[in-house]
Amino acid sequence: MPRTDAVLADPRLVEAAGRLGRAVVKDAVACAQHRVRQGALAPEEVADAAVAALPAHPASLRSVINMTGVIVHTNLGRAPLSPAAVAATAAAAGYADVEFDLASGARARRGRGAMDALARAVPAAEDVHVVNNNAAALVLVATALAAGREIVISRGELVEIGDGFRIPDLLVSTGARLREVGTTNRTSYADYRAAVGPLTGFVLKVHPSNFRIEGFTGSAGVAELRGLGVPVVADIGSGLLAREPLLPGEPDAATTLAAGADLVTASGDKLLGGPQAGLLLGRRELVERCRRHPLARALRVDKLTLAALEATLRGPATPVRLALHAEPAVLLRRAAVLAARLAEAGIDARAVPSEAAVGGGGAPGVTLESAAVSLPERLALPLRTGDPPVVGRVEDHRLLLDLRALPAGRDGDVVRAVLGAAGLPADGPEAGG
Ligand SMILES: *Cc1c(COP(=O)(O)O)cnc(C)c1O
Repeated sequence: MPRTDAVLADPRLVEAAGRLGRAVVKDAVACAQHRVRQGALAPEEVADAAVAALPAHPASLRSVINMTGVIVHTNLGRAPLSPAAVAATAAAAGYADVEFDLASGARARRGRGAMDALARAVPAAEDVHVVNNNAAALVLVATALAAGREIVISRGELVEIGDGFRIPDLLVSTGARLREVGTTNRTSYADYRAAVGPLTGFVLKVHPSNFRIEGFTGSAGVAELRGLGVPVVADIGSGLLAREPLLPGEPDAATTLAAGADLVTASGDKLLGGPQAGLLLGRRELVERCRRHPLARALRVDKLTLAALEATLRGPATPVRLALHAEPAVLLRRAAVLAARLAEAGIDARAVPSEAAVGGGGAPGVTLESAAVSLPERLALPLRTGDPPVVGRVEDHRLLLDLRALPAGRDGDVVRAVLGAAGLPADGPEAGG
């Protein structure tokens, strides 16, 4: 067994230790030595194997190709940032003028560029503020406007967001009390009116973003509730700033504010297509109370988020928007080309129509016509563990690689990945494109 010091002295590994850190390189060497012990590698191949196994960067998060057909996939990091947002993030990563005015040399308002962009994107909002995520926005609003008081909320809107996180638990954790009104399926204006009183901090409307109740249902909208004489806060969830014709059931900030909401909260990394963030938009006095509350400091976003959010708001169409608006016929053509290339290589591949979804707790029940490459199920594991990893979904013992969330420029990467997963050479020019 070659000694670790001797292997680490290999010039390629010395260079890698400077770039990736010594611990990462040592791990790669230890891995290669382990394979020698197992008899899977010759002792003189340890350095080469360690070099080949070095990661691109020291963080373990891997960039994944999402072919699940779910555009905003929470387990896969929700919204992918646009190239413009990625570039803005890289620019902000070093020293950056996040709280500094270069012209005067004096301190400046933190994140003013992102706040201006958000305010411009939603003219109906008198003021805006940004925190870590929508859950943080709700915590801040509940603390600043209702601690020790009551939040009036419909029983039909006591929502679990996912992974056990429940909005009612979150609200109660701030010291506010919930005043539940109505029933699971029906809540009327009169129910709210009977509950509102001197103890009310605000009325909260929560968009049931990840489920649907159908049948004998009824609810009071923001427009009706504005007359109650207390602030109406609306958690719209998905972060649409304006109406999206493809998703008529999905609320948006502009329409909700125009209907009379005093404050709107939303996520930055769902349909808005930006970084994880919580948006607060609405009446100046209420936004100001949230911003000035001591808790706001604990929920503030970092410069990377501010940079990505501003670029998302000002920049070109986001990957989420492009995926949402992709033409099914175009997706099917792309799937046919992919399947034909793979079939040529002897893989059992065919293009099939598919159904995609918005996901991420958005537009429940809405299916988006899509297309997929159908492959043998046994390719699912090698594709997930390949480089780059490709994640599809298994249906009826077939692996479906759905094109809805695949940027058009990456079809060639998918061909290479599938050939590699099937154990076929993926270097030929026919794999490119
Ligand atoms: C997703 C969602 C949340 C939670 O938002 P995060 O940004 O993940 O904290 C809250 N409310 C609704 C209605 C949602 O859809």
